[in-house]
Amino acid sequence: MSIFYNYDAMTQRAIYRRKEAEKKTFQDGKLIKTDKNGTRTYESNRCPKCSGSGDYPSMLDDGICWKCSGSGYYWHTWKEYTPEYRAILDARAAARREKQRLDGQAEWLEKFGFTPDGECWIILGNTYSIKDALKANGCKFNPVLGWYSREEMPGYPCEKFCLFDFIEVAERDCYHTRAVVKAVEAIKNPPKNEATPANVSSWQGEVKQRRDWTLKLMRSVDFDVPSFSGFGMDSMTIYIMQDEAGNIFTWKTSGCMMWKKMEGTELAFAHEGDTVTLAGTVKAHEDYKGTKQTALTRCTVKEIKRDE
Ligand SMILES: [Zn+2]
Repeated sequence: MSIFYNYDAMTQRAIYRRKEAEKKTFQDGKLIKTDKNGTRTYESNRCPKCSGSGDYPSMLDDGICWKCSGSGYYWHTWKEYTPEYRAILDARAAARREKQRLDGQAEWLEKFGFTPDGECWIILGNTYSIKDALKANGCKFNPVLGWYSREEMPGYPCEKFCLFDFIEVAERDCYHTRAVVKAVEAIKNPPKNEATPANVSSWQGEVKQRRDWTLKLMRSVDFDVPSFSGFGMDSMTIYIMQDEAGNIFTWKTSGCMMWKKMEGTELAFAHEGDTVTLAGTVKAHEDYKGTKQTALTRCTVKEIKRDE
């Protein structure tokens, strides 16, 4: 077989086959059966692939339809459902998909060390030094939850956590949803209320200036805004930070204050009280209820330090 196609000859053959097809007599769409649900079964001998021409525009097999080998004849049947019965079939299919989803979820929960209700016990405190003991006891680890156990671990400080309080479906990336990350951080680091003298704050930097800042994260506040796309709501967070002199900084973002350490896959999430080094551009000098705040934008976290 040559790797070069004779396109002219192929066109001639296609025209010939088209003419032959016009001479063929097909028996098209003949009703052969109506069942008790009103489902009609039809039959036809016209090839559904090439509509009876025998041609199929492909370089393979010289452009001859592979379904009917170029004859144009292919006996087949199809069904037409009444709208009422179609609705019943769709409902059955939806129920089947839902069952598959729940089965998949149950498997996921088992594999990742949760109870069938999506619960686990998060081990609190410094777990690094006891990680071997935790592993030996069947605990699992992931970057968001840290070490956790399917059952309560006597002798270890732990806190119950239910995944389904924060997400709808348990699947591969559910740990990284914002709601789960926030909830776990709140469990591991209950917020400390520190009184901040409001009046010492003054504006820092020049508007549009970009530089590194080392700031203490005081508080984060979540709120919803109408979505940029125009549908639904987007979740936003304002991070309120303070430098050593007591000047207040804010960063409003739809993301999360998170530091991607280069080595490994470890992610560090900023908690209240952490000292964060970030590159940020001064967006505006704002006044909030008499407190001067420096609003930052396009922040990139370079390091998160935590006082142990
Ligand atoms: Zn065909």
